[in-house]
Amino acid sequence: MTVIMYDSGRRPQWCPGCGNFGILQAVKMAMDNLKLDRANTVVTSGIGCSSKIPHYISTYGYEGIHGRGLPLASAVKLSNRRLNVFAMGGDGDGYGEGVQHFTHACRRNYNITYIVHNNEIYGLTTGQASPTTLQGTKTKSTPFGVLETSYNPLANALINGATYIARGFAGDLPHLTKLIEGAVHHKGFALIDVFQPCVSFNKVNTYQWFRERVYKLEDTDYKPNDKDKALDKMYEDSKTDYKKIPIGLLYNEDKPLYEDELPQLDDGELVDKPLKIKKEKMMELIREFR
Ligand code: SF4
Repeated sequence: MTVIMYDSGRRPQWCPGCGNFGILQAVKMAMDNLKLDRANTVVTSGIGCSSKIPHYISTYGYEGIHGRGLPLASAVKLSNRRLNVFAMGGDGDGYGEGVQHFTHACRRNYNITYIVHNNEIYGLTTGQASPTTLQGTKTKSTPFGVLETSYNPLANALINGATYIARGFAGDLPHLTKLIEGAVHHKGFALIDVFQPCVSFNKVNTYQWFRERVYKLEDTDYKPNDKDKALDKMYEDSKTDYKKIPIGLLYNEDKPLYEDELPQLDDGELVDKPLKIKKEKMMELIREFR
């Protein structure tokens, strides 16, 4: 099997040079390296440029509504724990509209890989400030500069109980691919926040900007098993006025999975159980959601 097997054949509708291309390629390379069975793999998303990604990967997929990639992914996982489940989307989608779902998914520790394409802007709607836009940045919605401090997704994930927390860069595919493979191997909720330059609407956080600042934790003696040290590391960017930004695996621990603690699943997967509902009633429900 080769990477092309994971390609849906659809041409991505992204601007030339967009960081989403790198992330898409890294996801497909990781799927290929892991030999994931496409028939048992599901990718969900919300709304945004990056949330179009289920269309471009040849697995099952579901593009939902704003901020709802994670509830979809958790429903899929709870229905059938045998599936490889990915949720993907942008920083506006996941940390703005969907931040409550993000927080609670971290607490529950579902066995899901969540990849956030973090371009620090709303790209699809042409350049408004998102939760991760750096303080002071002038955008269409903040002509005098962003007043708030930017949202720290890594720290939120750590404080709320996520068990694999990493940061990648769309300009370093081999490194990002390894992080994705690690997340899929990990049993628990895995966040990979990926710096994804938006070449059309974020003229601050460019490929060049990141290349001058990121360094790999794997090249240091950092160990991702200490919560206090991890929290400290997650704030290194803002503490150094964004001169030094670590990428790599920041935290990793083993914890019971939410889905394995549910007594309702003691005797097997929901998907294998009889519906206990008349076919006509089922069709009526399906029609209601069309
Ligand atoms: Fe990528 Fe930005 Fe274009 Fe969206 S607007 S496709 S994020 S470069």
